[in-house]
Amino acid sequence: MKISVKAPAKINLSLDVLHKRKDGYHEVEMVMTTIDLADRIELTSVDQNEITIDSSGGYVPFDERNLAYQAADLIKKKFNRREGVRISIDKQIPVSAGLAGGSSDAAATLKGLNQLWDLGLSPEELATLGAEIGSDVSFCVYGGTALASGRGEIIRQIPSPPPCWVVLAKPSIGVSTADVYRMLNIDDVEHPDTQAMLKAIEEKDYDKICASLGNVLESVTLEQHQEVRHIKEQMQRLGAEGVLMSGSGPTVFGLTIYESRAQRIYNGLRGFCNEVYMVRMLGDTE
Ligand code: ATP
Repeated sequence: MKISVKAPAKINLSLDVLHKRKDGYHEVEMVMTTIDLADRIELTSVDQNEITIDSSGGYVPFDERNLAYQAADLIKKKFNRREGVRISIDKQIPVSAGLAGGSSDAAATLKGLNQLWDLGLSPEELATLGAEIGSDVSFCVYGGTALASGRGEIIRQIPSPPPCWVVLAKPSIGVSTADVYRMLNIDDVEHPDTQAMLKAIEEKDYDKICASLGNVLESVTLEQHQEVRHIKEQMQRLGAEGVLMSGSGPTVFGLTIYESRAQRIYNGLRGFCNEVYMVRMLGDTE
């Protein structure tokens, strides 16, 4: 028995950090939406009681450090499954990029195993399981567009933004999410207006969405990495109507409703950045 599941990347239209909690996590408010850049996860049930991982490209761990492995392990333990699973990851989402690639692979594995092993779990139950793996996994279970709060695991689904082009550029630098949070000074940073973003999306007002883009982590990464600043400036110069860094970075995305402009931004960035993608915003759950 074999099953194939799509694992789309996400971008943050807004990301705010409210405060550090007693449990060490940060209280966040994030508006997230899925884009048409996806890994494909193939799950094959096997008789031997083991989880194996193989992946086509991008550096990802093949052992229990892989978030898809952790998802399968969690399901196996919770539901006492004696069979194993082979997980093949066709990796299209850049790794450590701020696009939740690993979290989406984990969510796709949870959804796929739910089907493959006929577990009958609801999306809510899968999202609760997902939160045990990582804060972004719950959102990835639902996909579409949502406001994520708490440490990122409390999901309120919202309407999709109007469709547009998304050009993504990832500079070849590594950014550690933990370091970015450590360097963030919550009291001395410009916070995005989450409510304005939610209202703009509800009204399907593309211009207001672009005007309300904001990521509290951006200032930290911009200060550390000149490359990210440079990509932002180039995207703006090439005519993107909205530009923002996603998650803790370093990927920067530019939004435009015009295909020709998206192509121009894509071509312009290809000149000095190896990893550039031109995709559509998905917005809706599939
Ligand atoms: P987020 O936006 O949720 O912060 P990210 O896009 O910055 O995530 P990922 O691509 O999910 O980062 O990878 C973060 C780390 O997780 C990397 O160190 C990577 O080795 C590890 N990892 C574990 N499993 C996976 C996977 N299936 N795909 C990608 N990375 C994985």
